[in-house]
Amino acid sequence: MRTIMRASQHSTTRCSIVAALGLAAFVAVATPVAAQGGRGGRGGGRGTAIPPGESCPPGTTEIRPRSCMAPEAPPPSILDYRPHSTLVTTAHIVRAAKFPAIDYHGHPQSLINSADGLERLGAALDSLNVRMMVSADNLSGARLKTALDAVRASDKMKDRVRILAGINFQNVGPGWAEKAIAQLDADVAAGAVGVGEIPKSLGLSVKKPDGSRLKIDDPELDPIWDECARLGIPVFIHTADPEEFFHPIDYTNERWLELSLFPERRYPQDRFPSFEELMTERDNMFRKHPKTTFVAAHMGWHANDLPHLSTMLDAMPNVYTEVGAVLYDIGRQPRAAHDFFVKYQDRILFGKDSFQPEEYPYYWRVFETKDDYFDYYRPYHAFWKLYGIDLPDTVLKKVYFQNALRITKGLPHAGWPN
Ligand SMILES: [Zn+2]
Repeated sequence: MRTIMRASQHSTTRCSIVAALGLAAFVAVATPVAAQGGRGGRGGGRGTAIPPGESCPPGTTEIRPRSCMAPEAPPPSILDYRPHSTLVTTAHIVRAAKFPAIDYHGHPQSLINSADGLERLGAALDSLNVRMMVSADNLSGARLKTALDAVRASDKMKDRVRILAGINFQNVGPGWAEKAIAQLDADVAAGAVGVGEIPKSLGLSVKKPDGSRLKIDDPELDPIWDECARLGIPVFIHTADPEEFFHPIDYTNERWLELSLFPERRYPQDRFPSFEELMTERDNMFRKHPKTTFVAAHMGWHANDLPHLSTMLDAMPNVYTEVGAVLYDIGRQPRAAHDFFVKYQDRILFGKDSFQPEEYPYYWRVFETKDDYFDYYRPYHAFWKLYGIDLPDTVLKKVYFQNALRITKGLPHAGWPN
């Protein structure tokens, strides 16, 4: 695909030159630079020619159209090449969110089980202006009760932590739904405000008792999604992983470094369903349960394909989406992302995922500023830079807290700004 685009760009250029300069120019342009005896300008003429439409061989780079050359010095690895940007531009470091935020994708883990942990969580959230964290750690039964008791006993945090309930997907078959519903009803009665985060193992790896893969749209699961609608609680769900994790690990894969650092994130296609298959199952499930509110974590792994996510949100009014861990895709397309957030301002929730307080300010900076070309926090996710998408205050408030409040009746609704 990339090669084809490159070839057509070249032929467009050539046609316009032919039109402007006539046939003599066409002959010169069509002749590989290397064959022109140094006429390619300073540095030109030293490369090795390649036919139109081909890429440069490994170890070389294109120095003039269709002319490839290797650097004189041994090239650094992608780990060691860390160029310092010389760009001089205004920078706005945003340590605390402009409006109080709800982190809908919280993984506080054991921090919410004790007064001391809650105190530390609160101090970290205060410094970021995150007013509330929704725990998406799949708590249920006794573990849920322990956390709820600790939160209720904390003067500082009793209105600042809410918890989603987990669902146990083991042994899905006859009788499973009744048990799962009874447990969910008990968890919601105890104080859970929703379900989640439904883990990616649903679809990727959970098996039914007969050994077959439990599909996300399996009809045996239908009663539990309907129960969520009856209870009026949202379902926060993580399906699959970035599409590149399902692709071959070659040098065209944008996540090569991550997949090489963390081999367990690869989904070889002889052992796992494809990305498309999982997305189709998820969307079938969303469509089958129009009265259930679903929040697709990580922008459904479509942040790199906002036209696709637009189509989904247009077709499924019961679906919302959340921004955790996909900032690298939002911040690399500031104009398209700005327009997407404005258009779908009622459908996007803030969430961070992995609890690292020092990483939240990158989100604020992307959402709130129009800064250019700044670093992302995990170089192995994205070797590119980010840009601010400069959202208006009305949109920021919806993304930071208003949308979460609207779809989650169990969150404390008092004391938020207008
Ligand atoms: Zn998560």
